[in-house]
Amino acid sequence: MSKLPEPRDTIVSRIDRHHEELAKLNKPRPYFGISSIGHECDRWLWLQFRWAVTQHFNGRMLRLFRRGQNEEAVVVSDLREIGMDVRETGDHQRTVYAGGFVEGNMDGVIYSGVIEAPKTIHVLEIKTHSSNSFNKLEKEGVRISKPMHYAQMQCYMRATGYQRALYVAVCKDDDRMYTERVRLDPDHADKLILRGKRLSLENRLPPPCSTDSSCLTCMGCQAFDFCYNTKKTMEVNCRTCAHATPRKDGTFYCEKWQDNIPVPYQYEGCQSHVLHPDLVPWPIDQDASDRWNAVYLIDGRPVKNGEKGYPSKTLLDGGPFDDVVGLVCKYFNGMVISWN
Ligand code: SF4
Ligand code: SF4
Repeated sequence: MSKLPEPRDTIVSRIDRHHEELAKLNKPRPYFGISSIGHECDRWLWLQFRWAVTQHFNGRMLRLFRRGQNEEAVVVSDLREIGMDVRETGDHQRTVYAGGFVEGNMDGVIYSGVIEAPKTIHVLEIKTHSSNSFNKLEKEGVRISKPMHYAQMQCYMRATGYQRALYVAVCKDDDRMYTERVRLDPDHADKLILRGKRLSLENRLPPPCSTDSSCLTCMGCQAFDFCYNTKKTMEVNCRTCAHATPRKDGTFYCEKWQDNIPVPYQYEGCQSHVLHPDLVPWPIDQDASDRWNAVYLIDGRPVKNGEKGYPSKTLLDGGPFDDVVGLVCKYFNGMVISWN
């Protein structure tokens, strides 16, 4: 039997590449998502909200997510077939605002027909599970086995005023189904929403949930490289800029241009972008920095970043910094600036 590896260009690899290309067109969401508000790591939630670490998934994972989404329509159809009045699903999902940047989209609302309480309105949450995850769910219930899902439903209930949610889980391996009615816990929901508001307004990088690289949460986290290796964002946008300030009304304000920054603009930023000091590994020279430019010490060389310095992208790419200027810096302790 041949020991040659699979050819690189296969049907599956083409499909996966197709999904990976499509995913590149997706912009990170501008709000602080309720779907992840129960995540155990403050730092991860902040990095995600500040568009500092972009999530990259391979084609197989992207197809898996699609499968989960497709399952929603199937479950809704089944619930309707047995007499539930399910609305606000699919393209008509309701966006729930919990204040400031905190918001999310519910899978649906069941207005009537849940067997145990036919007249009670329920928030609908649908999730697919692997076999292991499904077994744990059956044993422990959603609050213990899937705290993020539980948190999501709590926030939706609190923000909509509904008192109950119906959690519907499907096992991807064998189509087993599990349902659980969840009761609103107002204190828990309030704490979660406050957490989302606090983190979205936070201007500094929060501490990590662990400093042990064998921590399971960290090992599965897209910020692993940031936390344990580079300490460096690779993203240049308004939310990684030191001049941007999130405000309570759910907008970002630019201190440099003294104006609100519209969301589409935030994705690109401007030439005056200065890398947030918590998102780079280099020490900042406070004395040499000024209000609109930061001077970072990169390999011992002061490098100016901002409107009168090198663009952030150049710093992140590791230069090139002008050699002549570098020599000046080395021998005269000068600052490196761009010459145009
Ligand atoms: S790697 Fe760990 S500490 Fe860092 S953001 Fe992810 S979960 Fe948090
Ligand atoms: S200076 Fe430019 S990149 Fe920075 S926040 Fe303002 S508009 Fe965005």
